[in-house]
Amino acid sequence: MDDQFTKQVMTHKTSAVGELLKLAQTDEVISFAGGLPAEEFFPVEALKQAFERVFRMGNKALQYGLTEGYTPLREQISQRLMHRNIRVSSDEMLLTTGSQQAVDLVAKVYLEPGAVILTENPTYLVALQAFRYYSVQIIPVLSDEKGMDPEDLAAKIEKYHPKLVYVIPTFANPTGWIWDTSRRVNLIEECDRNHVLILEDDPYGEIKFAPNDYYPSMMSLAQQAGSDCVLYTSTFSKTVVPALRIGWICGNRTLIKAMIHAKQGADLHSSSLDQQALFQLLDHYDLNAHILTISAEYQRRMQLMITLLHQQRLGQVNWTEPKGGMFLWLELAEELDTEMVLKHALQEGVAFVPGHEFYVGSPQKNTLRLNFSHTSVEEMPAGVERLGRAIHQSLSS
Ligand code: PMP
Repeated sequence: MDDQFTKQVMTHKTSAVGELLKLAQTDEVISFAGGLPAEEFFPVEALKQAFERVFRMGNKALQYGLTEGYTPLREQISQRLMHRNIRVSSDEMLLTTGSQQAVDLVAKVYLEPGAVILTENPTYLVALQAFRYYSVQIIPVLSDEKGMDPEDLAAKIEKYHPKLVYVIPTFANPTGWIWDTSRRVNLIEECDRNHVLILEDDPYGEIKFAPNDYYPSMMSLAQQAGSDCVLYTSTFSKTVVPALRIGWICGNRTLIKAMIHAKQGADLHSSSLDQQALFQLLDHYDLNAHILTISAEYQRRMQLMITLLHQQRLGQVNWTEPKGGMFLWLELAEELDTEMVLKHALQEGVAFVPGHEFYVGSPQKNTLRLNFSHTSVEEMPAGVERLGRAIHQSLSS
């Protein structure tokens, strides 16, 4: 039966690192690997009350819902987006099972086999996984901490005629980097001129360490320029809880309609019980205050992680201090391969994700991603010390 699978499944590689990291999910290992928010800060009481309110509404609350999602929640999200200068009505929005499903639906309705998409490099591993199921050609664009290199972008648009550019412009996964506004504007101009769609993936944009920092979303800039070349997706996974699996995608009405149709064929709709509960939560709970609290805590954890890394005297190592999000991206001495470092690290009792996983094409092997949001300040010193030992062992082996 194994040889009866689709070509996409047959070419799908199981990741050795993924398997190693699965083994590392024990209490003895301190993990900087997953992109997990801090459980201690989950708004558990507020969520319980939100669900209770839904149950008090009677049996009808447990009925099938609309594929596009619970209308009052779409309206509420559209209100929240106004603070980010994004103007979308509720019929330009689809609620999805996490933003992950939004990425998949875009590929499903817009990318025929062989279509070209451009991505940053490195970029979010599971988006790559989703795209690969549609047999598209993924072409990386040279990228640095300010975004995609404009010259390389222009050259690749001209050469490959891509249909889509997938980007995470604010506090990216895995790098934590933030695109310069000028690079954002440049991408929009290039894509608008060449009829290329941009998928802006923004799960971390609200997790800012300086609350007054403002990074204009690609969506808001495109709207200001009168272009509808951007689809915007985000999620409540990082700001409320991932278990709700509620994300959304918004933008061009015709595309949203196509995605609603595709989603109907896949799952009819995402959990309407959860959507109604989230609506109640947003109506009765100060989510903005909560986001300020978790952002301050993540900043504290990030700063502690950086202080501890300095104390490890790792020699040649580079990082850019994140201004938000959940990740610190490290570049170690050139001769190190972080897949080897991971083996030492797991023996020491600490986990991280080697950079290899996030690259399209040949990886920069001395890179790694550390998550700082999930590990408490009490556990952080032991974790970084173990990591330091693993890096020193790799340097001397
Ligand atoms: N995009 C990016 C860049 C992410 O980091 C994640 C979560 N790790 C997602 C999308 C998916 O998030 P969710 O489906 O939980 O909304």
